[in-house]
Amino acid sequence: MLLTWNEIKRFYGEYANIASNDFLEYGERLDRAGKHTYGLLLTSFSKTRFTTSQTFASNYEARKKEDGIHAEEYIVKTLVWETDVAGALEHRKVEHPYITLILNRTPCPSCAKMLVAATDKVRAKFQMERNDGSVTFVLCCLGRYIHTTNTELINLSKAGWKLTVLEMDNWVTTRGKNLLTRCHSIQNKTGYFTYPK
Ligand SMILES: [Zn+2]
Repeated sequence: MLLTWNEIKRFYGEYANIASNDFLEYGERLDRAGKHTYGLLLTSFSKTRFTTSQTFASNYEARKKEDGIHAEEYIVKTLVWETDVAGALEHRKVEHPYITLILNRTPCPSCAKMLVAATDKVRAKFQMERNDGSVTFVLCCLGRYIHTTNTELINLSKAGWKLTVLEMDNWVTTRGKNLLTRCHSIQNKTGYFTYPK
């Protein structure tokens, strides 16, 4: 499935307090896959959806702290993951939370494994099964990283992540198209992913 940047901005921006300047900056980083990895974690967790948590990480920034770490690894390893995702899950009985992780490329095999483990761990805290329908985890990637195989994508899908491809300004990258074909074969879903209005 495709997920447009505009849809992400609409859901997390309009109903929350993320400044358009922040989105502009994130968008400029996430719309290309160079040597740096970038990741944005967005979670909704208030009953009015007026509070949205945002975390932006790049491996360039993370490298200053820990060597060679990828953006998604940084997001998962920091306390932010625990507080934001757990915070969202805590509110699932009041309103359906959407946890969205946007990356400028798919996770490498090592990060994919870590992300699966981290998702299982946070769900276990609330005694939730992988297929629990009270929360939606969305993984949105610009394109497929060359080292990401179907194994990683299948494992992420099994761990409850809805796999989507980022569409920026009506444009999908070549690696995004490649990822889209794989996502389609794994999830058997086409078209656009949308959040509630
Ligand atoms: Zn990685």
